[in-house]
Amino acid sequence: MRLSRYFLPILRETPKEAEIASHRLMLRAGMMRQEAAGIYAWLPLGFRVLKKIEQIVREEQDRAGAVELLMPTLQLADLWRESGRYDAYGPEMLRIKDRHERELLYGPTNEDMITEIFRAYVRSYRELPKNLYHIQWKFRDEQRPRFGVMRGREFLMKDAYSFDIDEAAARVSYNKMFVAYLRTFARMGLKAIPMRAETGPIGGDLSHEFIILAETGESGVFCNKDVLDLPVPGADVDYDGDLTPIIRQWTTLYAATEDVHDAQRFEREVAADQRLHTRGIEVGQIFYFGTKYSIPMKAVVAGSDGADHPVHGGSYGVGVSRLVGAIIEAFHDEAGIKWPESVAPFKVAILNLKQGAADTDAACEQLYRALLAKGVDVLYHDLEERPGAKFATADLIGVPWQVLVGPRGLAEGKVEVKRRVDGTREMLTPADVIERLVPPI
Ligand code: ATP
Ligand code: MG
Repeated sequence: MRLSRYFLPILRETPKEAEIASHRLMLRAGMMRQEAAGIYAWLPLGFRVLKKIEQIVREEQDRAGAVELLMPTLQLADLWRESGRYDAYGPEMLRIKDRHERELLYGPTNEDMITEIFRAYVRSYRELPKNLYHIQWKFRDEQRPRFGVMRGREFLMKDAYSFDIDEAAARVSYNKMFVAYLRTFARMGLKAIPMRAETGPIGGDLSHEFIILAETGESGVFCNKDVLDLPVPGADVDYDGDLTPIIRQWTTLYAATEDVHDAQRFEREVAADQRLHTRGIEVGQIFYFGTKYSIPMKAVVAGSDGADHPVHGGSYGVGVSRLVGAIIEAFHDEAGIKWPESVAPFKVAILNLKQGAADTDAACEQLYRALLAKGVDVLYHDLEERPGAKFATADLIGVPWQVLVGPRGLAEGKVEVKRRVDGTREMLTPADVIERLVPPI
């Protein structure tokens, strides 16, 4: 992408309304724009990151055996009356009427609808287990939308729903999602700790929140520090095998949100110098809720005994749009964002330090085309700006690799490569730049 043709509305001033770093940086880097309280337009740079995060979430759901579909954002109120949740949900639900006075709502979550879909087609335990997910916009009329995309009213969520014949089988499904979440967040460079959690309006009796430690987080958490160093399962983890050793390892050390925190147990189990009480950002939550929806909604299947059984369910959410902010909270400095490569909007930025000079223009052009041809996401800063302004933009938007092309280096046949994460610099020939930045096949 040539910056001269792109749409990157950078703000030089720090926006006053933003209280935390990720919100400030997303506005300054031209990633999103607020259209109403808690409702955002995703500008091109932000949209690229959102799509990268979404794709990692998708790949790990698929790997764990979940199946993608897409449900609508609008749902019938009657469906929620059937499950008994319509009145209970409260003012967070956006209730709408169509021209025929039919009551609709903008979905805050999809347990009811997926149960309706499931019961329409599945009749026998032989078709189980099933885990269906979608990545779709949700609306919750939050009392206090704030921190930009971290607590929006409209936000993008991945939500998966598992169906099993009994509790034991449902726990196997739960464990698969638990492991998939460990992998998903690790691929984004994050340490997300599974913590025992309350179930809230989703219901049920077993739940973990996946939390990234951050001072700006809204959840208070308590854990044993050792939990930060546990190993994340590799891509070769066998989802059809026994996952309980992994789950045991990750749930034995104390880790709980303040809602379910047990101070006595914490002090008994965790040595004083191992205790960590801090704040965190919830990036995902998983629930086992048994027959909470299947009984009122009559989602039953025939078991091996020939009798009908209500299915046992779980639901599994990831805050896809919240993650954009959460990753910035974890990776930034004074100058701007430092994207992990896996979610970066571009991998490389080429900065032409003397726009309009024959030698730098030609070298940039050649590098740009070569990287594009190799499938690398590259942004070419081809505007007529001072080098200082180009450095500032590149640091702000956080592209992992900057290639600085100036007349002095070129006189020796070299360009400078700067790594955003630690600021290290190296002079390389353009051929070596390509070698360095193009992953081996
Ligand atoms: P919170 O406690 O932060 O309000 P929640 O527990 O109500 O979240 P869930 O129902 O567990 O949310 O939704 C799954 C995921 O969706 C959460 O883990 C979070 O990452 C994300 N999420 C929830 N509410 C919002 C919101 N208002 N804005 C952005 N992301 C959200
Ligand atoms: Mg939650």
